[in-house]
Amino acid sequence: MISNRELFLRHVAQTSTAPLMLEIQEAKGVYLFGKSGKKYLDMISGISVSSLGHGHPEIVEAVKHQAEKFMHLMVYGEYAQYPQSELAHLLSENLPASLNSCYFVNSGAEATEGAMKLAKKVTGRSEIIYCKSSYHGSSQGALSIMGDEYFKQNFRPLLPDCKMIEYGNSSDIEKISKKTACIFIEPVQAESGVTVPPEEYLQSIRKKCDETGALLVFDEIQTGMGRTGTLFAFEQSGVVPDILLLAKALGGGMPIGTFIASKNLMDNFTDNPVLGHITTFGGHPVSCAAAKASLKVILREKLWENALRLEALFKKELKHQKIVSFRSKGALMAIEFESEKFNRDVISKCIESGLITDWFLFAPHCLRLAPPLIMDLETAKKASQIILQAIEETALNEKTA
Ligand code: PLP
Repeated sequence: MISNRELFLRHVAQTSTAPLMLEIQEAKGVYLFGKSGKKYLDMISGISVSSLGHGHPEIVEAVKHQAEKFMHLMVYGEYAQYPQSELAHLLSENLPASLNSCYFVNSGAEATEGAMKLAKKVTGRSEIIYCKSSYHGSSQGALSIMGDEYFKQNFRPLLPDCKMIEYGNSSDIEKISKKTACIFIEPVQAESGVTVPPEEYLQSIRKKCDETGALLVFDEIQTGMGRTGTLFAFEQSGVVPDILLLAKALGGGMPIGTFIASKNLMDNFTDNPVLGHITTFGGHPVSCAAAKASLKVILREKLWENALRLEALFKKELKHQKIVSFRSKGALMAIEFESEKFNRDVISKCIESGLITDWFLFAPHCLRLAPPLIMDLETAKKASQIILQAIEETALNEKTA
């Protein structure tokens, strides 16, 4: 019989020559279980997705219940499907009044695409501004505003009129003009290895957008749903975007994304042309039911508070001379090392020791920590010991090499 490993390598399209190749049989809470029963502590939540851990009973129940009632009924926007309406209502209740209309899609990249189209339609402009080292997805529109040339160069031509600015640089804000349809920005930049912008930076962008009529798009696909210490990271800046993007943790493990704006803005998709944005599966009833169940747990248990407790613990525990810096916003954390090689060796040792971590797309020398927000402090302390041990062993190996 051909092994799963073989079949995966032979028939599942590969995106790297060195996939992690973990073969997980089951996942429960903050643990994943490998083939021979090996237990792994999940310190990345599948890249900021499984904030409630794996197999949360309320999400599983919501999925089962909805699957039994109905799954796909019709393409987006025609039937008044209650799982969508209820999720949109719950999101609106927890957002500023101007963010009251949700367009549901299937992923983060699709939320980016929809927001780009909405901004162009609303403003009648084509220029889109984005930041260096930003990631908004891998489809061609999203790739056009990815802040890293290496990942774009072999896929050109991409969208015209996309202009890059430096994240956190206040003089670059001047590049937003009356030609700009919108600026895409992450309130905390994730894939650069967790970059928190300077105080007042987001406020200055908001001001410039108001002056020029450009729309402000906050990508909270990675920072949303409690990860940074508030339900949404933008709450900490006091700045309200015109369009908010969510995905990843929104679905509690099921695929869903959304771009949220005012009903007034969103109504631009209803004419000239009618059906301004179309999706067959967007807002799938099962994904919406899972997202609603997940958001209810996050709200009830105020999980953003645990994000702060986890951040405080790791900040205190993770002390080592090999750590160049520790950057964080809530439970989105980066441990910076001197080199990519050192980081990769630490990551491999962590995985060998039963702890899953990873690097960042534009910061391969930084180790990613984005644990499920349900993780207790005792488990987090054990995790920090495993990481420190891996750092220590890597440093020793480096010395003897
Ligand atoms: N935006 C941010 C900030 C992300 O981190 C990601 C994914 O990592 C995306 C957008 C794209 O989301 P998806 O992979 O669901 O298309």
